[in-house]
Amino acid sequence: MLVVDDLHAGYGASEVLVGTSLTVKPGAVVALIGANGAGKTTTMRAISGLLRPSHGRVVLDGREVQGLDASRIARLGLAHSPEGRKVFGPLSVEDNLLLGAYGRLPKFLGYKAGARADLDRIYELFPRLKDRARQSAGTLSGGEQQMLAIGRALMARPKVMLLDEPSMGLAPVIVQEVFRTIRRLKEEGITLLLVEQFAKSALEVADYAYVMERGHIAVEGTPEELGRNERVLAAYLG
Ligand code: ATP
Repeated sequence: MLVVDDLHAGYGASEVLVGTSLTVKPGAVVALIGANGAGKTTTMRAISGLLRPSHGRVVLDGREVQGLDASRIARLGLAHSPEGRKVFGPLSVEDNLLLGAYGRLPKFLGYKAGARADLDRIYELFPRLKDRARQSAGTLSGGEQQMLAIGRALMARPKVMLLDEPSMGLAPVIVQEVFRTIRRLKEEGITLLLVEQFAKSALEVADYAYVMERGHIAVEGTPEELGRNERVLAAYLG
């Protein structure tokens, strides 16, 4: 569903990604782990078009998308839930969700009518968002904002979802809730590329994983394989 092949990207003169390659098969949850600064967020940004790759290919559902605008890549089926959540604080929870469907719905229908079934699905997945539908997103707790960011990404009915550090800055009990949500998304068959600092939890939910070091993939395998790898154990699962 998503193939990244020999991707290079960076900021100005500094090249961060130096030949990153990975594959996410339909319906799979794939984890991308690695030390701070290894280039995980940069990989996500280069896939979704927020950062223009200087070399390499990004193939989404059989179509090359590298070099296209982020909005175009989003319309082609890629949803990116960025690090730090980035919900629109002054807008209501429901309006934040509706924004997720913005690129998909025909303008003349009225967004709300066209997105009703999707809203109901998100509210079923996250009942707390339903309770807070009219509240401004800025008043939500960190964990609720993360649920909202995931819900907004789902509203686009993406073919592939990128989820960047969903547990960042959250209390341990909320982190567990976030992982429960990821497990539910997996049960629903969502195709997901997940960046996580909690490598152990990420490997528990993932079908396959990549370990990134200094801008490229150093090790890859099933969670079982990585769990037997001395180097991975010592550096990330110790
Ligand atoms: P983290 O877990 O800390 O987010 P990461 O693996 O996601 O780490 P990136 O955020 O992709 O790593 O950063 C990779 C490198 O790119 C780092 O050396 C970082 O300093 C640099 N970098 C990231 N964003 C920028 C930017 N906007 N401008 C310049 N350099 C950047």
